[in-house]
Amino acid sequence: MVAGFLLARAGIKVTVLEKHNDFFRDFRGDTIHPSTLQLMYELGLLEEFLRLPHQEYRQLSGRIGDFTVIVADFTHLKTHCKFIALMPQWDFLNFLAAHGKRYPEFTLMMETEATELIEEDGRVVGVRAKSPHGPIEIRARLTIGADGRHSIVRERAGFQVIDRGAPIDVLWMRISRERTDPDQTLGRFREGKLMVTLDRDDYWQCAYIIPKGGFDAIKQRGLERFREDIVTVVPEFKDRVGELKEWEQIKLLSVAVDHLRQWCRPGLLCIGDSAHAMSPIGGVGINLAIQDAVATANIIAEPMIRQELFLEHLQAVQHRREFPTRVIQLFQVFAHKRFVGAALRTTVPLKKLPPPLAVLEKFPYLRRLPAWFIGVGVRPEHVHTTDPHVTAHSGASI
Ligand SMILES: Cc1cc2nc3c(=O)[nH]c(=O)nc-3n(C[C@H](O)[C@H](O)[C@H](O)COP(=O)(O)OP(=O)(O)OC[C@H]3O[C@@H](n4cnc5c(N)ncnc54)[C@H](O)[C@@H]3O)c2cc1C
Repeated sequence: MVAGFLLARAGIKVTVLEKHNDFFRDFRGDTIHPSTLQLMYELGLLEEFLRLPHQEYRQLSGRIGDFTVIVADFTHLKTHCKFIALMPQWDFLNFLAAHGKRYPEFTLMMETEATELIEEDGRVVGVRAKSPHGPIEIRARLTIGADGRHSIVRERAGFQVIDRGAPIDVLWMRISRERTDPDQTLGRFREGKLMVTLDRDDYWQCAYIIPKGGFDAIKQRGLERFREDIVTVVPEFKDRVGELKEWEQIKLLSVAVDHLRQWCRPGLLCIGDSAHAMSPIGGVGINLAIQDAVATANIIAEPMIRQELFLEHLQAVQHRREFPTRVIQLFQVFAHKRFVGAALRTTVPLKKLPPPLAVLEKFPYLRRLPAWFIGVGVRPEHVHTTDPHVTAHSGASI
């Protein structure tokens, strides 16, 4: 959506396909990072964007056993907004879609699922898709695969996937929220149980981390035991964990960390999770996907307008974005092994904070480092594409 919006704004005809008929998917992360807010600022959309309901987190904190610890402090970032905004991702996507539709070059086709690539003379020239009106073909000079971690585009293109391995899965569920609940605590850990709670106003969107493939064993122990586990890690939920009455209310989300060896072929480019599936650890996958989209628009818009888009331009996108991806995936794989895996194996109550967290407690200025890593990341991108729709006289955009 971000790539589509930026390219249409630059005057390039774009069709965005979304296989669902809305963006109301529970499995999306809710984090709008300072770098994305910076992007909104650069596009002149920030003020309007921040009018949408959201919460602003200037710090991220976690509850580790009986300790509450601040792990990231965004207030020193060199960005316009010194906070992370928590907003359901469907609001963000609807916002972008509404602004995209103001450009005649932008078409969004909902309920339209890409199923096959169309190839001619070794070049991808578009996609076949299922639509509410039957099968369709969409021809394009460039097809961008931004279809997430189960990407059909990467699979049909035959791209080689390097699997970095992810030893965790996530159970995703809702538990109602009371006005008196403590807020702004995202991560909670106690005796082998790890849970992230996202404030969605009248309910908590909860992510309960389990060892990969561990859901069947959890089911066998029974729902009552699972509810007890939840209360162990979030005691405030004692009075309402009974809302979880059947396993259908609990969705299993498989976590993957991988990347493509090649992100592109003539006529085709993969970005975001389609090029590099990210784990939820660190809450950085959305940021990375958006930054890929900005870099893509920056690199390909001019050549596309000149009708001189070559494979080298697509390779330049991979070249620019591969380094930040690798750095973050290295961190995620390390965190899986060193912290999350160890945390899930812990059976005894913690008597003291683990060393990295103890250091953050002792030296608060070090919290700026995780804030930068999560909020901005390696090699942040800025909007370099222009908007030819802006009239020279009024300076107003259509
Ligand atoms: C449980 C979990 C929690 C996470 N939480 C966070 C978080 O809090 N913060 C964070 O930064 N990252 C988080 N991540 C990582 C993050 O979700 C991804 O890195 C990010 O969403 C990637 O964005 P994307 O646009 O590439 O793909 P996606 O967000 O997956 O979007 C792909 C889109 O393509 C559509 N689509 C798929 N196939 C087709 C098709 N064939 N035709 C048409 N449309 C199609 C999908 O419906 C979807 O709308 C989490 C990951 C998991 C697994």
